[in-house]
Amino acid sequence: MKLVLKFGGTSVSSTQNIRNVANLIRKLTKEHKIIPVFSAISGVTDDLIRITNLIQNRNKEAANSLAKKIIKIHTDIANQCVKNPKIKKDLVNKMKTDLDELQDLLHGMLLLGEVTSRSSDYLISFGERLSINLVAFALNEMGVKAVPLTGKDAGIVTDSNFGGAKPLMDTTRLHVSHTIENLLQKKIMPVIGGFSGADQHGNITTFGRGGSDYTATIIASSIKADEVWLMSDVDGLMTTDPKIVKNAKLIKEVSYIEAMEMALFGAKYIHPRALEPLVTKKIPLRIRNTFNVNNPGTLVTANPQTDTQKLVKCVSTIRHTGLIDVRGGSMVGAPGTAATIFSILAKEGINIMMISQSPSESSISIIVKKNDLDKAVNSLEMNLLGKIIKKVDVTVDVSIIALIGSGMRGIAGVASKVFTAVAKKGVNVIMIAQGSSELNLAFVVKDSDCNAAVQALHDEFELGKTS
Ligand code: ASP
Ligand code: MG
Repeated sequence: MKLVLKFGGTSVSSTQNIRNVANLIRKLTKEHKIIPVFSAISGVTDDLIRITNLIQNRNKEAANSLAKKIIKIHTDIANQCVKNPKIKKDLVNKMKTDLDELQDLLHGMLLLGEVTSRSSDYLISFGERLSINLVAFALNEMGVKAVPLTGKDAGIVTDSNFGGAKPLMDTTRLHVSHTIENLLQKKIMPVIGGFSGADQHGNITTFGRGGSDYTATIIASSIKADEVWLMSDVDGLMTTDPKIVKNAKLIKEVSYIEAMEMALFGAKYIHPRALEPLVTKKIPLRIRNTFNVNNPGTLVTANPQTDTQKLVKCVSTIRHTGLIDVRGGSMVGAPGTAATIFSILAKEGINIMMISQSPSESSISIIVKKNDLDKAVNSLEMNLLGKIIKKVDVTVDVSIIALIGSGMRGIAGVASKVFTAVAKKGVNVIMIAQGSSELNLAFVVKDSDCNAAVQALHDEFELGKTS
């Protein structure tokens, strides 16, 4: 099979882990054609983003010392992960070239004291650019011919929406398939850096946090891979958080749409757009554990074969959120009220996680992250209190509980089952939302009630039973 394997940051975060991952890849090449995609070493992207903030605050010293830390992490591993003197020399040289460019860029940005979305993407793309060198040369030492390629080198062409770029798939397919097939024919493995590509002018762009998943599926779609495996440090998608429910089970199979819903919650975050490139080509995706390769993980396909009869496949939670309830008689029948409220929050950069409005139109409930709560309430009060809204009520420490599963679609009685099970535990439901896709039924409870409700629902829908 032609497999695209994406590895997360932990698999490159030490010499030992790099050797392990290179060894795993080497073994797999006996049976398959492997195209691996890598994230940056854990924490490096965070540090690079921190550097952009420090530059903006003109904190030159702190920016430089953080850059030094990144340089040290990579040069230390580069000095250890390869023994063969010739290969080691090549790796150290390659690292030096990339690190020099990083330092030049930093120097330039510090001189200007300015960070644009374009320069920021250029800077934060370095995490992956550096990590792939380590893996490619470790593979070379094991006898697997490999070259490091950034997204740009591989041929990923995107729009110029820095920080959240989208691939231009037709052009990308053309370039990527050409580059990669060429290498594969020469029996050279491309070791691809995730997270970034380049726009049509050659400027480096990034896909947003977790974007290496997206790189893997873009590549897979471009070369018509047989499967994509997202390798991380969890076994796969679970029926619920095993920290809350002891008999939480691994989910064997889900559809693309279910996976997209689940990925927003839960332990295994997947980039929200990562499944898109697979859908039209119907390429299956597996979520697997690098440290537990005997476990088959979760399979994501267009039409799952097992568990399809299940109403609900998982109970997910988002803990520690805040609820804002906006009320006012003049909201009734006034077009544009919701738009006004949402655009005020948008201007503050606040992400709305859940909304519900009663048909009387006299109140709108909004869930935001706890960290955003103060800012959200202040901006609503400053702009709207006494105008279209009379009152803003706040409840801190609430949790969203979401049931996900396409089996709920068109089935009567799911909601009654859900709320009866929760009521039996004496848990009060504060807010409810269900999209018309019927794939996701979400409601809000006090955070202190969350565990009891999740346990009750996991039992009610018998998710702990293996199928
Ligand atoms: N390194 C990037 C991030 O942390 C991309 C990724 O890991 O997928 O967001
Ligand atoms: Mg990451």
